[in-house]
Amino acid sequence: MTPKSKHMFSRAQHRIPGGVNSPVRAFQSVGGHPRFIKSGQGCRIRDIDGHTYIEYLGSWGPLILGHCHPKIKAALQKQISLGTSFGASTESEVVLAEMIADALPSIDKVRLVNSGTEATMSAVRLARAFTGRHKIIKFDGCYHGHVDSLLVKAGSGVATLGLPDSPGIVPQDSNYTISVPYNDPDTLEDVLNRNRSEIAAVILEPVAGNMGAVLPAKGFLQRLRKLTREHGALLIFDEVITGFRLSYGGAQQLLKVKPDITCLGKIIGGGLPIGAYGGHREIMKWVAPEGPVYQAGTLSGNPLAVAAGIATLKVLKKASNYSKLERMTQNLVSGLQKAADQAGVTVRINTIGSMFTIFFNDSPVTDFTSAKTSNTGSYGKFFHALLKKGFYFPPSQFETSFVSLAHTGNDIKATIQAARTAFDALAE
Ligand SMILES: *Cc1c(COP(=O)(O)O)cnc(C)c1O
Repeated sequence: MTPKSKHMFSRAQHRIPGGVNSPVRAFQSVGGHPRFIKSGQGCRIRDIDGHTYIEYLGSWGPLILGHCHPKIKAALQKQISLGTSFGASTESEVVLAEMIADALPSIDKVRLVNSGTEATMSAVRLARAFTGRHKIIKFDGCYHGHVDSLLVKAGSGVATLGLPDSPGIVPQDSNYTISVPYNDPDTLEDVLNRNRSEIAAVILEPVAGNMGAVLPAKGFLQRLRKLTREHGALLIFDEVITGFRLSYGGAQQLLKVKPDITCLGKIIGGGLPIGAYGGHREIMKWVAPEGPVYQAGTLSGNPLAVAAGIATLKVLKKASNYSKLERMTQNLVSGLQKAADQAGVTVRINTIGSMFTIFFNDSPVTDFTSAKTSNTGSYGKFFHALLKKGFYFPPSQFETSFVSLAHTGNDIKATIQAARTAFDALAE
């Protein structure tokens, strides 16, 4: 049924580590082999065997307008005929920076980079330079790209020195990172008290998307804002997923908390590689060449990525888009919940805006510990049952599904219908 993908995966494994250029694509936690994708249109992708899928991956977040949006295609075609990279300044970089600053009041100035990883890496460097401190605090289950100092989760105890999640990271890097449980401000306060005048920054996903979708508890972000201020630590929001996803002003606008530095990526590149970090002008003036903190990039502010980003933001600016996304997502989520209930399968669906995760769990999922109690085997079966019917969800329990503006009411209905039979099969 998918012989071409299967064959291509074995070819890939000969020449690419694990056959993929990013581990999450390898289907390891759901089993089976990845589908090789040839094209996408709207909310649908087509694999090399000719199967079409309605998909909720959105390239892991960027494609809030769906595949091949006419406005993005036109912007890219126009830029291609003008040139793809100059290593010199362009007007469109200024336009995108202005659009980002207009959308996010916490940002006076912004630097464009090439990935979310680069954005968080640079934000941490900047925070350390600005505060003259070395340690950073992150939260278990939050992912900030594959930056050495951020590839750390809590070890056996909270507030103990971090253990690297990956070999190849020098202890010095992870020793300065402390990871604490999400939605647990008391532990954070404790760690801040025990590391007085040593914490440069607290970094988090204001709405977590990388342990599945996990929402901040009421007052959690406000408490972080207050605590970081009291301790002279910067608050960094990693809005690589949530920026321009949860509202035009990101999670910070929706949840009304202003960070010191914001990291962006994904949507602001319209499907091309990009990242950005920005904040108050007093902080950003430390970045070279205005200040001493070095950070650079051959392709930073790349004209193609910037053109796709501007085109995306122009479409998104219409406020009705976000209410439409939310309405569609709520319809889908309530339909999925009902289908699971009717089949007698216990799931907890976390959702906000156009983000959701179906946790196969009988308790609320509020942090990494509770997320990890989900039944990943059931998720894998659910995933494959839907894939077979032509619906592509993230190939892991610990990822977020995304609804795009290209999904229609009929796509949502068809998805619920297919999920019903998938849940029924699981219940047997
Ligand atoms: C995807 C992601 C990153 C990393 O971005 P890349 O472009 O993959 O380097 C960082 N933070 C969050 C919250 C992300 O979801």
